[in-house]
Amino acid sequence: MTYLIISDIHANLEALDAVFAAAGPYDHALVLGDLVGYGADPNDVIQRVRALPSATCIRGNHDKAATHLASVEHFNHLARFAIEWTTAQLTPDSHQWLADLPAGPVAIDPLVEICHGAPFDEDAYIFDDLDVRRALAAASRRLCLFGHTHVPAAFRQAEHVHTVGPGRTDRFHLQLDEESHYLVNCGAVGQPRDGDPRAAFALLDTFERALTIVRVPYDVAAAQAKIVAAGLPEVLAHRLAIGR
Ligand code: ZN
Repeated sequence: MTYLIISDIHANLEALDAVFAAAGPYDHALVLGDLVGYGADPNDVIQRVRALPSATCIRGNHDKAATHLASVEHFNHLARFAIEWTTAQLTPDSHQWLADLPAGPVAIDPLVEICHGAPFDEDAYIFDDLDVRRALAAASRRLCLFGHTHVPAAFRQAEHVHTVGPGRTDRFHLQLDEESHYLVNCGAVGQPRDGDPRAAFALLDTFERALTIVRVPYDVAAAQAKIVAAGLPEVLAHRLAIGR
């Protein structure tokens, strides 16, 4: 089985289309939440994801906030402004589909589970060692895929927990062994925050036990122009160019 793994699209249609163009063939898509928020194309991004022939999609905190399933009180003023804008843009059909997305974690197969934030809490951020250990302990599968931080990261737990990548690279390859447990963030499609502005996604071949995180350039200027034209805060356009 081959999976396309995408997370944190954040209504960035240019980035999403670049990922689809670069991904090549795969069997099933895994979409780890935050389809909307920050970017200017929430409805088009939802349509693209809904049109995927085979996909499992879970919700992120921005998807919840945009559909009033969660309050925006923990969002900073930029995120809050973008959420309120997004809510006003969503068609009734998009709104309903987004509101119906399941919470993570969701087990995909005997090897893989997906979550937006962490397997113990869909809204939690995995940043430090303690978060990583807690997530590995909570994971129901040997490979737990997460998003939410917008920073690619890969951890392997055998006897001890090791950071195994990815570093700044065009393609990061991770060969999964039979014994270890893995916790992997494949990065953000639509709003990278690791200083690399290119869109991030991953391909997983469960037969070969091979996972590859890929970075792909996209038309940042077009996405920025739409954000500005929509009346969204300009800083949301600027950050796309620096990957922060
Ligand atoms: Zn996000």
